[in-house]
Amino acid sequence: MNSLMNKAKLLLLLRQEGVTDSRILSAFESVPREIFVDELFKNHAYENVSLPIDCGQTISQPSVIAIMTKALDLGARMKALEIGTGSGYQTAILARLCRRIYTVERHRTLSIEAAKKFHQLTIHNVSTKIGDGYSGWPAQAPFQRILVTAAAVEPPPRLLEQLGDGGVMVIPIGSADSEQTLYRLQREGEKIIKNFLADVRFVPLVKGGVAETKEE
Ligand code: SAH
Repeated sequence: MNSLMNKAKLLLLLRQEGVTDSRILSAFESVPREIFVDELFKNHAYENVSLPIDCGQTISQPSVIAIMTKALDLGARMKALEIGTGSGYQTAILARLCRRIYTVERHRTLSIEAAKKFHQLTIHNVSTKIGDGYSGWPAQAPFQRILVTAAAVEPPPRLLEQLGDGGVMVIPIGSADSEQTLYRLQREGEKIIKNFLADVRFVPLVKGGVAETKEE
């Protein structure tokens, strides 16, 4: 009951922050954030804050997820790529809004746990991969939409290559220890049109393949 009320409050806040698209709001409504956060933080699942998850990573702040989802402007028939599965919460929201989502995560534990949650929620249009997001998912390219949920110093060239014509990429740009800026990039032929979205703070997009995490 409590979590229902908290979720309603969060939805109200997202509306106040300018998220008016009913498809996006119902995606937020239908995905239970509490199953994606650590047991310790369940009581805070519907607060507008980022929270720690396994492997020293974070589940993003709901209002930032909303800004990114809105900027992506997903259509129901689109194929999208996400870099940085993390908890899988954002993936589950995107899965409600497009035909199929391909999501890459460098931490094996996080990818496996997220896949279990998609199964539990009967979300069947997500493909997960453990790997280096800098390489994207070439076998499935081009993508109409690409979301990067970790900050890079510049847009990874291989991801730009995998963005289809007219496609949109949303990505935080900046170094790990400074303010970062969330951008919406749109491909128009060879040109990339760049638009400012928000000042943000993300964990870094780490170069160099799969993380050697200890499995518990
Ligand atoms: N959208 C996620 C955010 C997770 S934080 C959520 O809301 O839960 C960003 C994630 O990007 C982390 O899980 C981190 O491990 C992952 N990541 C960082 N660098 C990566 C890379 N090069 N390739 C794939 N995943 C990466």
